[in-house]
Amino acid sequence: MQSSKLTQSLSFGLDIHTGSGDDLQTGCIEARRIRNEANRLDRAGWDWGDIKSTVVDNADHVNNTTQLIVDKALGEIETYHDNKDDGWGRPYPYIDESYPMVMNHSEGYRLFPEDDGTVRFRITATRGTHVKGELRGNPDHFDRLQIAFNDEEWRVGTAEVVHKHNEWRLHVTVTHETHRVASKNDADTIVGVDVNEDCIALAAMSRNGGVKQSVVFEYPSVKEQRHEFFTKRKRIQKAGQTAFETAVKTEERDYVHDCLHKVSRQVVDWVSQFTDPVIVFEDLKDMRESIDYGTRMNRRLHSLPFATLQEMVSYKAAWEGVSSDVVDPEYTSQRCPRTECQHTDRANRQKKRFKCKRCEFQDHADRKAAVCVVQNWLDEQYGNVLSLETLPHVRTVRRAASGAGGGPDSHGHDLCSGVDRHGTSAQPGMGAREELKSVASAVQD
Ligand SMILES: [Zn+2]
Repeated sequence: MQSSKLTQSLSFGLDIHTGSGDDLQTGCIEARRIRNEANRLDRAGWDWGDIKSTVVDNADHVNNTTQLIVDKALGEIETYHDNKDDGWGRPYPYIDESYPMVMNHSEGYRLFPEDDGTVRFRITATRGTHVKGELRGNPDHFDRLQIAFNDEEWRVGTAEVVHKHNEWRLHVTVTHETHRVASKNDADTIVGVDVNEDCIALAAMSRNGGVKQSVVFEYPSVKEQRHEFFTKRKRIQKAGQTAFETAVKTEERDYVHDCLHKVSRQVVDWVSQFTDPVIVFEDLKDMRESIDYGTRMNRRLHSLPFATLQEMVSYKAAWEGVSSDVVDPEYTSQRCPRTECQHTDRANRQKKRFKCKRCEFQDHADRKAAVCVVQNWLDEQYGNVLSLETLPHVRTVRRAASGAGGGPDSHGHDLCSGVDRHGTSAQPGMGAREELKSVASAVQD
């Protein structure tokens, strides 16, 4: 089992002041050429050491950057060789989509933290061409970057320049020097995650497409809770009690934070039962840009602090040695997961029920979405489509997210602390009805 140092990927937008996006584009095209060349030479039977030295000598990138791009390309081939017995496909010899430039800090790129909190960057787009400017992005990522600059346990590592959704972005990795996490390439269990306003669905699948187990953790809608805080604040505002108002705001923030911590802990505990897992989320950036999702996606994105929840899960998982990844969420909620069918239609989903319009396959909609997350990931990683015919029963765990005594609300939500509900069957016709039973012991704070 391979492992690597605990690494987090921080994503920033690039505000370019010197040079241009065209320079970065040239760099990415050269990165693609290097990738394709490495693949071609491997097919021609070249020794990998010779591939490296030859490609590096002839590239338009600084040597260090070329070496990293070749490593990435050969890594794809290595993963294929490790898994070809399981039917994994060989990487395509030529790709024509964009390929990221991969760079080492202080070689291909450099970041300069300023006293006022801004971070400037310099990227060597190709030999002798520099693109400079400022990073922009979410405050959490800036905080983690500052830690990496200032804490000697952390180090700023490689970065990739990518062009996504008409924007240039820099994905920077920060690495903990001693703590280790299992490699996602060795994962034996792939856990897909589908986050919703009222629940989080998880599907743990093996590489060959079987669903090992799945669960849906329900929680009282954070949005509802926030609405109650909002109403409470309004009442206080009318009475002109600003000190109390501040207290309520703090209470609300703590409440949401507490919910997210508990839910993320529950997720990581569940995932930890499997051998060599990797946790896969839907890429938030892609979700926001996607027009396929419409109102459901908007509701999901605005109903709870998505990014924070994902980061908490990733962070807790990493300290358990479990890696996380993201995948393009395309059609995860609309597509039929059956390999034979794959029918994609918004009408397949009716609230919490998925029913394929073509083959009539039925399932819990969120669990099915989690299965599709895993399918997208395997497809993206290895171009491999799983054979999937049936899914096991869904287990649903309902709980008050605030935990015993933790909830500041006095407006109901009288859920018992833990209810386990065995959901309906995934197969049409089997229709086992929901059976409620109390299993408070199954849910821990
Ligand atoms: Zn179908």
